Amino acid sequence: MTAHMTATSSPAAAASPLTPGQRALLESELLARIRELDGRMAMHHGGATRAEHAQELLERDADDASQQAMDREVDLGLSDLEMRELDALGQALARLHGSGYGRCAGCGCEIPFDRLRVEPQAARCVACESALEYRQELLK
Ligand SMILES: [Zn+2]
Repeated sequence: MTAHMTATSSPAAAASPLTPGQRALLESELLARIRELDGRMAMHHGGATRAEHAQELLERDADDASQQAMDREVDLGLSDLEMRELDALGQALARLHGSGYGRCAGCGCEIPFDRLRVEPQAARCVACESALEYRQELLK
């Protein structure tokens, strides 16, 4: 019998480089931004929340999905950029509750906390984000 030393690995800790305090701060930042965008839609809709509005659209015409998508874009009163931001915020919140938050989707490096504080929905480090924007710019 040989004494075998195994290194204790902890994948959960490796998945997120952020401290619980930092995560809590970023979560409240994400929620605040989602609320702000939701609030803008609510104003546009005389008080209906996004969820209520989505439900209303579903009930109005459950068969016509493409019409619904169009309605959504027109009715919500948000610009494309805001819609994308809301999407990104929701996804970031899901990652924060799951795993992978704070890691670059491009190179896998840890996204610095300072960057996340400015842009909590960021899915990439600055280098990967610039590279992506550069490629998108070329495709235009
Ligand atoms: Zn990266």
